[in-house]
Amino acid sequence: MARRTPQKRLPGRSSDTKNNGDQYRRRWKWDKVVWGSHVVDCYPTVGSCPYRVYVRDGAAVFEEQAGVFPVVEKGVPDFNPAGCQKGACWAQQLRADERVLYPLKRAGERGAGKWQRVSWDQALTEIADGIIDAVQEVGPEAVFSPGGANAMAWGMVAQRRFSSLTGFPLTDWDGDIGDCSPGMYLTWGKHVDASQDDFFHSELLLVWFCNPAYTRIPVYHYLSEARYNGTEVVIIAPDFSPSAPHADYHVPVKVGTDAALCLSMCKVVLDEGLVEDRFVREQTDLPLLVRLDNRKFLRASDLRDGGREDQFFFHDHRSQRVVEADRGTLDLGEVEPSLEGTYHVEMKDGASVEVTPVFQLLAQALQRYEPDEASRVCGVHADTIRMLARKVASKRTHAYEGLATGKYYHGDLMGRSMYLLLALTGNWGKKGTGPTFWNSGPSTGVHLLQARRTSGAQEAKDLLTALRQVLDALEAEDPTRTDEIALTELAHRMSALDGWHVPTAWWLYYHCGYRDVWNRRDWHDPSMRREFDEYFREALDKNWWAGVTAPPPDKPPRVMIEVGGNLLRRTRGGQNMFLRNLWPQLKTIVSVDVKMSSTGLWSDYVLPAAQQHERPHAHGYAGTMFYSLLEKAVEPAGEALPEWQIFRRLCSRLAERAKAREFTQYQDGRGRTFRLDNLDEAFTAGDTLVDEEQMVAEGVEASAIMRTVPEDTNIESLRETGVVHFTDWGLFPNAQSYATDVQTNESMAPFRNHLDKKVPYPTLTRRAQFYIDHDWFLEAGEELPCHKDPPRMGGDYPLVLTSGHNRWSVHSNNIVNRLLLQTHRGHPHVVIGQADAEARAIENDEEVLVHNDMGSCMVRAKVTPLAQPGQVIIYNGWEPYQFRDWQAPSNIEAGMVKWLHFAGGYGHLRYWPFMWQPIHVERATRVEVSKIS
Ligand code: SF4
Repeated sequence: MARRTPQKRLPGRSSDTKNNGDQYRRRWKWDKVVWGSHVVDCYPTVGSCPYRVYVRDGAAVFEEQAGVFPVVEKGVPDFNPAGCQKGACWAQQLRADERVLYPLKRAGERGAGKWQRVSWDQALTEIADGIIDAVQEVGPEAVFSPGGANAMAWGMVAQRRFSSLTGFPLTDWDGDIGDCSPGMYLTWGKHVDASQDDFFHSELLLVWFCNPAYTRIPVYHYLSEARYNGTEVVIIAPDFSPSAPHADYHVPVKVGTDAALCLSMCKVVLDEGLVEDRFVREQTDLPLLVRLDNRKFLRASDLRDGGREDQFFFHDHRSQRVVEADRGTLDLGEVEPSLEGTYHVEMKDGASVEVTPVFQLLAQALQRYEPDEASRVCGVHADTIRMLARKVASKRTHAYEGLATGKYYHGDLMGRSMYLLLALTGNWGKKGTGPTFWNSGPSTGVHLLQARRTSGAQEAKDLLTALRQVLDALEAEDPTRTDEIALTELAHRMSALDGWHVPTAWWLYYHCGYRDVWNRRDWHDPSMRREFDEYFREALDKNWWAGVTAPPPDKPPRVMIEVGGNLLRRTRGGQNMFLRNLWPQLKTIVSVDVKMSSTGLWSDYVLPAAQQHERPHAHGYAGTMFYSLLEKAVEPAGEALPEWQIFRRLCSRLAERAKAREFTQYQDGRGRTFRLDNLDEAFTAGDTLVDEEQMVAEGVEASAIMRTVPEDTNIESLRETGVVHFTDWGLFPNAQSYATDVQTNESMAPFRNHLDKKVPYPTLTRRAQFYIDHDWFLEAGEELPCHKDPPRMGGDYPLVLTSGHNRWSVHSNNIVNRLLLQTHRGHPHVVIGQADAEARAIENDEEVLVHNDMGSCMVRAKVTPLAQPGQVIIYNGWEPYQFRDWQAPSNIEAGMVKWLHFAGGYGHLRYWPFMWQPIHVERATRVEVSKIS
């Protein structure tokens, strides 16, 4: 028998049971308890799960889910106790090894890991001088700021106000991280989701492009609860994902072939007469007439001089006449639009042209997707396709879509196909139906902060009055505009006019080396008929992106200020692209963060930001429809500061240095003048926006003025309850996108106003639009949803790499938390199927090389039967420094963009923040996995 080595007693530990009991009791003592949460880009509460944070001796010792959500709808489970394991660890992160406590300045080569602690004074003076140098040398476009998922509380607000006052470009956060859904935008002119308790009303949940067991932890219980309510849950994913064991069906579609599966289901719906005719006629563009001579919609401008380009037509079955489709309402009145047939219409020049409804073209296009044919493409048995189609057609169906469609090259086609299936079966605008993607939820007082000229309730009222007047003017310009359409129009115009909030793609193309990658024809779809650059130039020549193509090619970047992001981890192409192409051009790189990220390690300065429990906030989201309070629990650690204070000090230092250097104003490329000498006053609105506690209280007050929370809500009432249910959406374009009235006693399903009140959609045709007659879409054969195989991005390799958010972090937040590392293997891994591993003689947990023409990374193999043959998965969130030589999977991602997403000059295909824009993608990148010799 082996002898046991006597255990040395640990300091502070005692074998005395009484003392142990005391210690245990002391563990659960505290001086005060405050409200908290973690305002990061987590889902689906987006940083608003209500928590109680326990403070002892000035330190946050632990936190727990508050469980204070009231019941919203009788008979529907409540949200309690919303939270996840990352949330439960934030108090630990206050004292984590990776926490940045003091301003740091690089003391060696970039990335050498050598730092010196400097004062705020020194850091901000040097950064301010770097900014002024850049403006003098190049112009304000040389100073830019990428968005960051960690910056959602104060960072984003401060960053935006700073950018709008200086003209320094701020790249679109969703463009940066790829959380756009081009398919959803093409279809409805917006992004939406539902409150997650609405799933309880679904009869069928299609969990598609989503792995909620990993990514929707706070609301995952609704999947189980819905099943007890009779809901069938179907997981559609190539791998037997961690969510699959909890579903009724797992449908193992081949990677990137979801559109084929979905369109085949659409064909079954048509063939078996399961189409919801009335819904299709009223809500969609499928009855609109298309000219057969040029495949364009029939427009009023075809029929008469001065006719509108955006006036479309039905063929009325009752009167047998071609009639205008009302742009101001979806109400069909006495009209019964035909879905089939061909008709002759006389053009303004006297010519007769044959026209047909989109529906008829769709029926023809779907001939390619006979289930037996589609099965060969998507790998799903034809009987399963038929069974699913019948279920969707007969049940209240919700497409529980994650954020992954936009991460596929042809994700737009997958999304459009999925929404087409919902359309044909009448599955949106009713409880338990519709899509779930994301949008930014109801507007709150924080949305006004960027525009405030002073503090106080009157300023909030004045800003709202001014906004209302602008909307009234836009609605007078075109009386068919609803508030939603007018707000969207305003967002388009403001984006083009302001030009400081810009899509990411131009910056990547002009300054980060992506031009070469995007011009690799062999990595694009073969239906791209011309060179990529030809499309790019055409988009520019036609002014489709006027005002937002910054920073332009003649304005090389010199200063980068990243706030709560991690470019080198998250950007497809990662270090491969940035360190090689962008970094040499940058003279000053600043990382504002709570932690030392991989990007921070390659920066010149790292400025310590205050963490979740170190500053107050009030925040809510549509996923729950609740607004939550976060109180400041403890003082910021070390010399950390809330982001608002960091920018405030930077503005102040810029003003001082500008005066000292006698460089007090400058112009941007459009001739607009910006002043530096009063930047501190402008940023703080004459010293009125200084204190976070006051700004949060005013934000709550402004939310009540906006009526997005009850009128009697204030900071004190929120301190009592912690949360309050939203009561309205507010006048904000992204908020109005939900197009449904807020009910405080019901779950929220989007689009009810489109169905119940016949409110038109913000698309070119004012209907859910499945036919895109833009020249480029016609050229590509993508005027209707179709399936195309993923292109061979990354090179000619046998495996396809997919990804997804992992279970153990929110982006890279918490990924090195010691407690969380102990809940899994504790290091990055690549999931590989048994057959693929055996074919390469790879053993479980063996370190392997994942590589392609872009680059490589070394990672341990997780050999499992759960991955589909030919598929490998590396979940995202790992810090590059967790890999050997800091070489992360982003290095092997090609970051291709689909050329069609540069299309514009067409109805709703115009930029506004977080919406229509080209997204660099990574899913289905081609790779090989090899043993390391
Ligand atoms: Fe909720 Fe987790 Fe996000 Fe915290 S980190 S708000 S607990 S989902």
